[in-house]
Amino acid sequence: MQGFDYKDIYIEDGKRVLEINILPEKYCNFDCIFCPIGRSKNKIDTQIAFGNVTDSLTELEKIIEQTNADLIFINSKGEALIHDQICNIIGFIKNKGLPVRLLSNGYLLNKKDYIEIANMCDEVIGELKVITEEAFQKVQRPIQGYTLSEYISNMVNFHNQYNGKFIFEVTIIRGYNDDEVSVQKLKDIIQDISPDKLIVVRLEEEKFQKKLGITDERFTEITNMLQSVAQ
Ligand code: SF4
Repeated sequence: MQGFDYKDIYIEDGKRVLEINILPEKYCNFDCIFCPIGRSKNKIDTQIAFGNVTDSLTELEKIIEQTNADLIFINSKGEALIHDQICNIIGFIKNKGLPVRLLSNGYLLNKKDYIEIANMCDEVIGELKVITEEAFQKVQRPIQGYTLSEYISNMVNFHNQYNGKFIFEVTIIRGYNDDEVSVQKLKDIIQDISPDKLIVVRLEEEKFQKKLGITDERFTEITNMLQSVAQ
């Protein structure tokens, strides 16, 4: 059984953050054309057993002690919720007295079992990358039957019942959500979701810059417009 992967610890708002990937390879319910971790060979939204995690948890315990982490950020190769041991992994961290942040693309936050798992976490991140149904199907290539409107309402409904900190991450992509009409739509969605924190990002990878990258000036402009409705 392959263990978890770790990034170097970093400081955020004075806290030592330890990022971990719990998936052995990429598993996601989307297959975004701009995914930094490549294609989704395994497009899936049900849980999979990856074997016993006892050794991985022992290693995690050691790394937590060595790094003196304050917050554990589960940021995996795809959708961490599909790991059948995620509940135990989160429970293990919580038993150490540490808060957990979970990154999900947010689509699965409508399913009872996944809601319960996400509710165990102190912080949950949901994402949005495009704002039309057509673009969602074309560039995020989700599992058949998924819709953008359901995606957004899943996050709205999740946040309505969630007691933790819901962080909404919007990626600005040239040609998909950087014009005035799109920015207005994003503002409306942000107001509907009403996140506790909004993060606005853009695609960072060099290979996507030419077609999908956005200038510093426009990015700052859009970020300011979006942050103004999130407060
Ligand atoms: S949702 Fe994230 S992990 Fe999944 S395919 Fe898209 S960019 Fe990759």
